[in-house]
Amino acid sequence: MFGVEQYSSGRCCIIMDIKHNFESVRQRITEAALRAGRDPRDIKLLAVSKYQPLEVIAAAYQAGQTLFAESRVQEWQEKARQLPSACAWHFVGRLQTNKVKYLDDRMSVLHSLDRFELLPELEKHGQRLGHIWTALLQVNIAEDPAKAGLPVADVQDFLAVLPDYPHVRVRGLMTIGRLGATPLETRGFFRALHQRRAIWQSQAPPGMDLSELSMGMSDDFEIAVEEGATIVRIGRRVFAEL
Ligand SMILES: *Cc1c(COP(=O)(O)O)cnc(C)c1O
Repeated sequence: MFGVEQYSSGRCCIIMDIKHNFESVRQRITEAALRAGRDPRDIKLLAVSKYQPLEVIAAAYQAGQTLFAESRVQEWQEKARQLPSACAWHFVGRLQTNKVKYLDDRMSVLHSLDRFELLPELEKHGQRLGHIWTALLQVNIAEDPAKAGLPVADVQDFLAVLPDYPHVRVRGLMTIGRLGATPLETRGFFRALHQRRAIWQSQAPPGMDLSELSMGMSDDFEIAVEEGATIVRIGRRVFAEL
């Protein structure tokens, strides 16, 4: 989407601009955390690098960022192959069942476990690789028909079947706010997910840990931090405003 040629001038400037973007977003996360009485170190900044060229991701890595997210399996494979192995990769896109076979242990966290059909595929592939997937359950808390995510009404049943898939380990919840929602509505969705997490945790099979809350993007990450996010997923705000 953004070719490297669109950036102002040369490699040093890309690194300087990206470093500045990351510093500014980290500062805003810190301030939001402190406003909410939270420890800023409890919030991870996930840089959503989908569509970004290798040079730009490499610049972010040089600026100290190691946590990246992609939304297409094949694009991720290519980037993971070419970028330093110290980069940790998360997946935030809709995961097609026929793409599961391309995943491997370089993929640290799947944020988009959003339907039952993915479980047998992930289990089978995990068994084959001897790898346990770490995943977040994507919940459609805004009940937005345009967005993926498990309906709220299905979450408890989903958690209850997870012990049948020992190669899938759910560590928390993920959500996307509704497009066009007001900040107040967005806050309501994030708060609702945080509150429901406590209920789902209390009903979950023994040993299941739902502590991660992945919520907040470029336009609403401060609200998400104030409402308990442990991971914010930021694309445009760190990469595109150069
Ligand atoms: C693209 C994307 C992001 C990042 O969005 P920005 O608005 O660019 O910050 C976050 N989460 C998901 C699921 C995405 O697809």
